[in-house]
This record gives sequence, C-alpha cells and structure tokens, in this order.
Amino acid sequence: MASKEPASPMPKNRVQFQKGLSLARFLQDYGTEPQCEQALFHARWPDGLSCTRCGSARFCRLSTRRTTFQCNRCKRQISLLAGTLFQATKLPVATWFLAMYLLSQTKNGISALQLGRQLGLDDNTAWLLKHKLMQAMRERDRAYRLGGTVQVDDAYLGGENPGGKRGRGSENKTPMLVAVQVSDGGQPVRAKLSVVDGFRKDVVEQWAGQNLERGSVVHTDGLGCFRGVEATGCEHKPRVTGGGKAGCEMPGLLWVNTILGNVKRSLDGTYHHFEAHYLAEFQYRFNRRYDLAAMLPRLLQAAVTALPLPRPILLSSVA
Ligand SMILES: [Zn+2]
Repeated sequence: MASKEPASPMPKNRVQFQKGLSLARFLQDYGTEPQCEQALFHARWPDGLSCTRCGSARFCRLSTRRTTFQCNRCKRQISLLAGTLFQATKLPVATWFLAMYLLSQTKNGISALQLGRQLGLDDNTAWLLKHKLMQAMRERDRAYRLGGTVQVDDAYLGGENPGGKRGRGSENKTPMLVAVQVSDGGQPVRAKLSVVDGFRKDVVEQWAGQNLERGSVVHTDGLGCFRGVEATGCEHKPRVTGGGKAGCEMPGLLWVNTILGNVKRSLDGTYHHFEAHYLAEFQYRFNRRYDLAAMLPRLLQAAVTALPLPRPILLSSVA
C-alpha cells in the first residue's frame, strides 16, 4: 500500500502528538479494583473521610461491602459511591474507570456499542454507563462562560444535509449554536456547543445570558437573531456574507466552522444518529485537548461531584 506520509515534514500539531495516558500506564495506576476504589476515595475526600454524625476520622471497611465505611465511634455507615454518579451501580469501580479511560483518550469518542464490546457489557448497560458519564461532562462544562473575543455561528445537525448552513429553516434537523472563545493570538481557547430551540432573538438572548460573559465581543455572520447577544452586554460584530461556502471561509468565523466540521465528522464516524448528549462529549474533549493525560482524573472529579442520575431521569433527559 502507498504510504500516506507527507513528502516534506509537517509542523507537529500540539494536540495530535501529545502523549496522553498510555494503556500500560492506565493499567499500572488503575488496573485493579482496590486501586480504583482508592483513587475514587481520594477524589471524593481529598482531606480524608470524617464521620458526618460524630466527626470521627476513624473508620473500618465492611468486609461484605468493600465500598462501605463504618465509623469506629458511632457506627454510622458511609458509602463511597452514594451521592456520586456511581451510586447504586452493580458494576465494579474498575469497569467505570476503564470506561472513563476509553471515553477520554480516544480522539473521536467511542460509541456505546464499542464501549460495551470493550468492557464486556450488554448494550443497555453500556449505553447507561456512557450516558451517565456524558451527563457528568455536561454538568462540568455548564459552569464555564466564554468571554473576550467569541465567534458564534448557527448550524443544523442531523438530516441528510451534512453541509450545514444551506439547510437553514429545515424542520427535521437539530438547530445548534457553536461558539468559540478565541485568544488574542487567534487560537481557540474553549468551545460551547448548544442545542437550541431555533434561531430567534429571544433564544439567543437566553443562550447568551447563560454562556457569555458581559462585555464579550461577539463575531457572527450577521443572522438577525444574533443581535440577542446585546441583551447580555456583549458587543455584536456581524459580518455580511453571501452565505454558503464563502460564508464558511470568513476568517472571523474560522474556528467555529473548523469545530463544526470536526463535530460532524466525529458524529458521522462514531455514531449512527445524532443526540444532544454527544455534543457534550465532544465539547468536553475539545476544551481539555491540551492535557489528555489529566483528562481521566478530571472526569473522575466530575463524576464524584455530579449528582446521582437514576435511570428514569437519565432516559427523560435524552431527547
Ligand atoms: Zn461517627
């Protein structure tokens, strides 16, 4: 087969060529159930566990349920898993860790089906596990706002027109806003991918109120609804374009269009159909792309601080 190597050396991409967390290293650090329980314990109680009733810091571990600690003084029992995303799970903690590893280290994400195969789980269990982790990612990212120079664009996902903009107004597609904070040097800092209820000024007003800092300078293609960012005290800088391909090549919107292209490729390659939760996964990975090795501990942190997500609530949140 012909080699795809470029004839001349290409500049190395900082994201593409970083080391990440090797599988060997992962197995060394998180390969056993006790190691994973220990890591979970430290993520949840970095200053150690103290009894919520009597304040004692002396505990023993139940021999029948290893994830339950019992206070030596008042006998109160505290679960390592209750109150986290892992609450009531029947899976070993090590399975969750391997799932977090696979979700955080693969470039384009991993489908629930693939995840199930890798972990030896049935499809339903794999689907629930994956969506719980994605929910934790989503909650984590919700806290951040974009500020400074921000590029915002409207797009549709789904349907049979992957080209995007020409489908504006189409009914069986999912409308979304793609926003990227850009550094003074013109590099993307952080992105927000939001499914919205159409491209209207009131929708953009509400979105801006939740996702942008006051005083941001917002570049858009000039679609009328984007004036809605002004309600949040942002400066709107519209650009007039002819739409279509020319619009995609506007330098002011370079990064939103690049990211949108990546999202679409990622969804096409990994998933059979589009769901809003997958955007959360893409966004989470993009916003942490410079530090792949730290992504697993960060996802663990997100999981221990996320609220438990019982199955019926999870199912209702996946539109
Ligand atoms: Zn106690």
